Amino acid sequence: MTLADRVDIVHFAEAGPVEPQADVDIAFVEGSITTPDEQERIQAVRANSRYLVTIGACATAGGVQALRNNADAPAWIASVYASPQFIDTLATSTPVSEHVRVDYELWGCPINSRQVLALLRAMLFGVAPAIERDSVCLECKRRGNVCVLVAQQQPCMGPVTQTGCGALCPRFGRDCYACYGPAENPNPDSLSRRFAGLGLMPEDIARRFLHINNHAPAFAMAGHKVKAGKP
Ligand code: SF4
Ligand code: SF4
Repeated sequence: MTLADRVDIVHFAEAGPVEPQADVDIAFVEGSITTPDEQERIQAVRANSRYLVTIGACATAGGVQALRNNADAPAWIASVYASPQFIDTLATSTPVSEHVRVDYELWGCPINSRQVLALLRAMLFGVAPAIERDSVCLECKRRGNVCVLVAQQQPCMGPVTQTGCGALCPRFGRDCYACYGPAENPNPDSLSRRFAGLGLMPEDIARRFLHINNHAPAFAMAGHKVKAGKP
C-alpha cells in the first residue's frame, strides 16, 4: 500500500487497472514469448515503456514453457489437447530478451517482493539497481547452513545458482534446483563432474541444467554438453 502512494499503477489486470496501450515509465513483464500474439504484444510494450523489466524464470530464461524446446512439442500438444489444430504457437518458447531489449532482469521462480521493492526503490531514487549475482553457496556460508551436497550427497545446484532466495532450500535440508538462474562466473562443467561422481547418469545431470532456466546460456551450454556425452 505504501508503494501505491509512490507510483501510479497504470496496467495491472489482476489488481484492477487495465490500460494495455498506455505509455509507462516501467513495464514489468512475466511469461515467455510462446505465441504470435505475444510476439506482437511485446514489441508494443517495449515501444510504450521507458524501462522494461522481466520478472521470473519464464520471462527471463524460458521457464516451464521452454521445456518443450528440448522435446517433441507436437507430440505433447497432441497428447494434451483434444483438438490440437486450434493451438497456435511459435516453434519455440523464448525469453523476452530474444525479442526486445530488456533493461533489467529479476530472476527466480517465483521472484520475491524484496527483489521488486529493491529495484523500484533504486529507480525512484534515480540510481542503478544493485545486481546480486553471488552463488547460493555464499548465502549458505553466511547463514551457517549445513551443506547438503557435502554432508548428504544431494545434487545441489547452489554452486552455480545466483542467490536472492536466502538459500531457502538448503536451509530446509534439500538441494537447490537452480530456480534463480546462473550465478556470476559459474563453473557448470565442474559441478557436472561432481554430480557424475555422486552416481548421476548423464541424462539426470543434463536435466538439472535444462530445467526452469533452460534458456540461460550457461545452463543451456552445460546441459547440452552433458547430453552430447561431453562432461
Ligand atoms: S547446500 Fe548447496 S548451496 Fe549450500 S553450500 Fe552446499 S552446495 Fe552450496
Ligand atoms: S535454494 Fe535454489 S531452488 Fe531453492 S529457492 Fe533458492 S535458488 Fe530456488
